[in-house]
Amino acid sequence: MAAAEAHSAHNYHPLPIVVSSADGAWMTDVEGRRYLDMLAGYSALNFGHGNRRLIDAAKAQLDRVTLTSRAFHHDRFAEFCTRLAELCGKEMVLPMNTGAEAVETAVKTARKWGYQVKGVPDGRARIVVAAGNFHGRTTTVISFSTDEEARADYGPYTPGFEIVPYGDLEALRAAVTDDTVAVLIEPIQGEAGVLVPPAGYLPGVRELTRERGVLFIADEIQSGLGRTGRTFACEHEGVVPDVYLLGKALGGGVVPVSAVVADADVLGVFKPGEHGSTFGGNPLACAVALEVVDMLSTGEFQQRATELGEHLHAELALLAGTGAVTEVRGRGLWAGVDIAPSYGTGREISEKLMERGVLVKDTHGSTIRIAPPLVISKEDLDWGLGQLRAVLS
Ligand code: PLP
Repeated sequence: MAAAEAHSAHNYHPLPIVVSSADGAWMTDVEGRRYLDMLAGYSALNFGHGNRRLIDAAKAQLDRVTLTSRAFHHDRFAEFCTRLAELCGKEMVLPMNTGAEAVETAVKTARKWGYQVKGVPDGRARIVVAAGNFHGRTTTVISFSTDEEARADYGPYTPGFEIVPYGDLEALRAAVTDDTVAVLIEPIQGEAGVLVPPAGYLPGVRELTRERGVLFIADEIQSGLGRTGRTFACEHEGVVPDVYLLGKALGGGVVPVSAVVADADVLGVFKPGEHGSTFGGNPLACAVALEVVDMLSTGEFQQRATELGEHLHAELALLAGTGAVTEVRGRGLWAGVDIAPSYGTGREISEKLMERGVLVKDTHGSTIRIAPPLVISKEDLDWGLGQLRAVLS
């Protein structure tokens, strides 16, 4: 930890644990202590650590071919794109690596679509986003963040974004103009503290964007792929956006894989040379992500997230009645728990939980996020919640 402190930039403040191995929902540190992972790599580890199917898929691919660049076709690419498009009910996939790259790609897609298809005058395209958003760390993406910590001292900022309050349909309606090419939102705001918008908001966004000829881009990078009990968080409200942004769990916690998924009338705007990534859609990424898509297509993980999620939220509701917890939000196996200030900061609670063998991470001072791997057993989940109760008692 001291060497990391000395030789790495201090852009993170990790809990004082050094992990050396992990299996399922459990991690083991360098001294052999075991910890229940209730964060799951911010939902990148939905299928657990060392998931056999994903590791086997990766190992088999490692022995064949790992990288071709997109200069050539490779034999895992088409199958991955076809199957992921199918899972999303869309026609096309544009694979990238990190979540932020998928968001950047969506911004470029929406602008190009705006100029070429919608007929927005050159240089005027605008994208409406929500306050409190988290879409990644690149310069364009932080240009439309409302979090000063994420934004300060990184200007000049990329123009072309309009920020409206999250969950406020009237504000959104007022912000959409003839030059608006897209509305980009998280169907549940993860980093903001697992904020679920009011019922009717997502269908309202869908209706408005359809009416006004604007793309609805749903950033499902954290909310998607089983976490909420459905493949996509948008499904809870029966909403199908024009564009899905996926990442995190798409790479199974093994490799970084992200994607923009949409129909051909949207992703068809790209011609050769206009966008790309050396590693995007590489054979190793495709092999692992294909396995992820296969696992999700049975519905088994979504079902697990629903059942365990109901249990999690029932237990957290009991805690909310004790005074230690001021609010609980979330859906499926995903919760934001606001801790009453007299019980400590989110960081302090996270450190106390760590001492008891449970790993979570705080956000925005007083909130802890609970998002265990979807493979966690009910017994382990109960044990972890027992530790939270003990810390808050
Ligand atoms: N979008 C959302 C909703 C996220 O939660 C995140 C990461 O937390 C990102 C985008 C950025 O993903 P990455 O860290 O892989 O760039």
